Amino acid sequence: MSEKEHIEILILGSGPAGYTAAIYAARAGYKPVVYTGMEMGGQLTTTTEVENYPGFPEGIQGPELMERMQKQAERFGAEIRFGTATAVQFSKEKGGIHTVTIDNNKDVTADVVIIATGASAMYLGLESEQRLRGGGVSACATCDGFFYRDQRVAVVGGGDVAAEEALYLSNIAKDVKMFIRRDQMRASKIMQDRVFKKDNIEILWNTEVKEVLGDKVVEGVRVINNKTGKETEIPLEGLFIAIGHKPNTEIFKGQIEMDERGYIITKCKSTETNVPGVFAAGDVQDPKYQQAVTAAATGSMAALDAEAYLNEIKG
Ligand code: NDP
Repeated sequence: MSEKEHIEILILGSGPAGYTAAIYAARAGYKPVVYTGMEMGGQLTTTTEVENYPGFPEGIQGPELMERMQKQAERFGAEIRFGTATAVQFSKEKGGIHTVTIDNNKDVTADVVIIATGASAMYLGLESEQRLRGGGVSACATCDGFFYRDQRVAVVGGGDVAAEEALYLSNIAKDVKMFIRRDQMRASKIMQDRVFKKDNIEILWNTEVKEVLGDKVVEGVRVINNKTGKETEIPLEGLFIAIGHKPNTEIFKGQIEMDERGYIITKCKSTETNVPGVFAAGDVQDPKYQQAVTAAATGSMAALDAEAYLNEIKG
């Protein structure tokens, strides 16, 4: 470790929570530093149209929204750095100094750490699925859908994200199948209605993927109907997994209190964690809402909580 640097407010993550925390902290006169993580701008950079973020009546593209948030944070003096936290050593004492390792090669210390590392896509856990990631298995239709013009694709999952992915793909691919493990979708009614209206989306209820077929590239899937036990092989070129997300909290294990799924536990109506001076905002502490607007809201809360904490310890 060659370099060392002390930062008053260190923000990990560059989604709506991280950037909003940076905007608030910078406007309050601090010089927050944001380490972006691998996916600069977070999950919204892999979506297309965001229709439910207030203030954009016509909708806005996810990447543009994140670029705007970044610029807004920079305008007030936040420093945005490309880099990923790879280890942490949190002090348990109030007023203690936290150490965060960036990209395995640089230690920074901080009075306050705001964790806004978000969540990542989950996979089914099949060997064949992992082997064919990048060879036709994807968790992001807006990133990879382009490659499947006039081909056959399928989406696994029945939530809002799966519905969005299926709709997006239906405008590119020849036909889209949705494999849904129950006899109903979890997605909101408006999204379900949109899916049902599409002629080239076919829903296979009570259907689970047992194996992704193909050697180097996806050639099909073997699915099972979990009501009848019947297995079927379906030829297709692309398989999109949209079964939810898991929080990005690996590096915080043993350092901070989490629930059984790995979400960081924050105190009611606050972003405080069980570690003094460490706050959590956005999807990383929110298994329930996981919206851009709720992430941004908790980002602002984290900055306000951080400010109050710094006032308390520094006077
Ligand atoms: P959800 O948790 O809402 O849905 C996950 C889906 O995947 C469910 O259908 C679930 O089935 C299924 N699933 C989970 N595990 C498996 C598995 N191992 N095999 C097969 N299927 C599986 O996650 P989303 O990512 O869709 O959405 C996350 C949040 O973001 C939600 O709150 C959603 O409402 C929100 N969102 C809102 C949007 C909007 O308002 N336009 C757009 C996108 C997201 P089951 O139902 O049986 O558990």
